[in-house]
Amino acid sequence: MQRVQGKKLRYLISGGAGFVGSHLCDVLLSEGHEVVAVDNLVTGSARNVEHLKREPRFQLIEANVCKPLDIPGPFDTVMHLASIASPKEYLARPIETLESGSTGTRNMLELARRDNSRFLLTSTSECYGDPEVHPQVETYWGHVNPVGPRSCYDESKRYAEALTMAYHRVHGLRTNIARIFNTYGPRMALNDGRVVPAFLDEALRGAPITVYGDGKQTRSFCFVGDLVNGLILLSRSEERYPVNLGNPLELTILEFAEAIRHVTGTKVPIQFCPLPEDDPKRRRPDITKARTILGWEPVVPLDEGLRETVAYFQTVIAATV
Ligand code: UDP
Repeated sequence: MQRVQGKKLRYLISGGAGFVGSHLCDVLLSEGHEVVAVDNLVTGSARNVEHLKREPRFQLIEANVCKPLDIPGPFDTVMHLASIASPKEYLARPIETLESGSTGTRNMLELARRDNSRFLLTSTSECYGDPEVHPQVETYWGHVNPVGPRSCYDESKRYAEALTMAYHRVHGLRTNIARIFNTYGPRMALNDGRVVPAFLDEALRGAPITVYGDGKQTRSFCFVGDLVNGLILLSRSEERYPVNLGNPLELTILEFAEAIRHVTGTKVPIQFCPLPEDDPKRRRPDITKARTILGWEPVVPLDEGLRETVAYFQTVIAATV
């Protein structure tokens, strides 16, 4: 693995004003690097990078990565995070979601090719679809419904992986692919529909927690700080094939609802609602590969990460009333 020894690098981060992207910008800047974030602010928010306004090594460019981009380089590393990531949002905007995975990825790969920079694609555990192999290991090809409602996200990310590998094979680009599992933490949008903000919003308002289906489906939740460390390590490695980044602690959604009640100190009831179509039944990353080649594993316990997230949402809620 290549290590960056004190060298100051120039990064281009698409989706840099998003939930994960903004934390990534923070860590790279704290390491002394220069960061240009490009974001169309559709699901990201300028508020997420507001604290960087006076940072001379940071720049936010408001632009859509699906349109032709002429961002002055050169960059040492391009990291492509721009995407609609919440099922509620991508079900509402399937064509834009397909575009950011396809045209958006192509445009970012072209920028990396222009500068002969490193390129990291943020892909997803959704590449495994509703998995028949458990836990999910990178060599599993997945079980995706190509025409179901989630296909706009799943298939565009699978295409993005194929395109990234093609740029590596054809142009010799130094690429990495991260398959990101469920992630949570401060700066998630309270209304983005994903289970962490949804449950926390409900619990903090004293409303019933809405569990879809019977709540026996599972997910594994990784704190955003852990994920960002994994992304940075991967972007400096020579691994070209996908690497899972996620927390292997697997919970049913009902167990997760209980954890939310515990951390918020509330006793709100559970309300059951219909399960969305093609909702994966089980999900847990096998992170042997990340442990072996990156020396990475999550270190933030769920209760600690949730406490930090609750504190963030409390300030967001307080600012809106
Ligand atoms: N979910 C839920 N209530 C909600 C939102 C989500 O029970 O208000 C469930 C959803 O059906 C899924 C899991 O929580 O089984 C995780 O959903 P999320 O939208 O966060 O992401 P996914 O892992 O499905 O991409």
